[in-house]
Amino acid sequence: MITRFAPSPTGPLHLGHAWAAMVADDLGDMHLRIEDIDRQRSKPHWEAAIFDDLHWLGLIWPEPVMRQSERMAEYDDALDRLWSRGLLYPCICNRRDIRAAAAAPQEGAPLLGPDGVVYPGTCRAASRIGLRPRDVALRLDADAVGALTWTEKDRPQTMDPATFRRSIGDVVIARRDFATSYHLAVVVDDAAQGIDLVTRGADLVEATPIHVALQTLLDLPTPGYHHHDLVRDGEGRRLAKRDDARSLASYRDAGWSADALKAHLRADRTAP
Ligand code: GLU
Repeated sequence: MITRFAPSPTGPLHLGHAWAAMVADDLGDMHLRIEDIDRQRSKPHWEAAIFDDLHWLGLIWPEPVMRQSERMAEYDDALDRLWSRGLLYPCICNRRDIRAAAAAPQEGAPLLGPDGVVYPGTCRAASRIGLRPRDVALRLDADAVGALTWTEKDRPQTMDPATFRRSIGDVVIARRDFATSYHLAVVVDDAAQGIDLVTRGADLVEATPIHVALQTLLDLPTPGYHHHDLVRDGEGRRLAKRDDARSLASYRDAGWSADALKAHLRADRTAP
């Protein structure tokens, strides 16, 4: 079973990342992927720190490591395939436009999906013909999504097209600033790395139907999914990158051994 750990080099790894990597390692042969499409926030020193922390934890992975910033041509290709079938349309709305349109009186309260407010469809009539436009966000036409099936922890899951349209809608597949998105990159890369089981935090469970939809539209295999519990602090809040006090480096500096930290995480998923 090939699993993966896919951190973004935008800050120090914390206990939640350690747990994610341990789950990937426990359940299969862990592959590593550096998710650095956000060129503003990704930094080489954070990438180096990821390797140090994972080595300290005693984890190994096959080389070379996949780096998303080196795969823009693959994402471009996937976008071309979706665009040429008329499945994408350009969107020029900003967040404020979307909130205003979604909150129009006849619409009731704006619906929240995995990426925020479900897009009210303002730009749907934009042209889908000709060359794929650049420097503009591209949305997936949710009407193209059929019935979806996948597994979560080996249990079958389904989503029907109407539920996808209502609760997820036309999500952004290529951001104006990145010319891809987390959703597209993760799907293209999980397939390229031959991942059979996607292991990641429960915070991403709601993004899974988007990924399964893209796999189906791009003729890629759908792996199994396993969303693990998040590590929480003493107050029950999930750990965040800005929460430096929970960084692996700070535990290491405070004299914790990797084995002691791993034993703590296995016994009790709260931060010591
Ligand atoms: N890059 C994401 C993160 O650091 C994880 C994405 C995934 O596992 O699908 O939280």
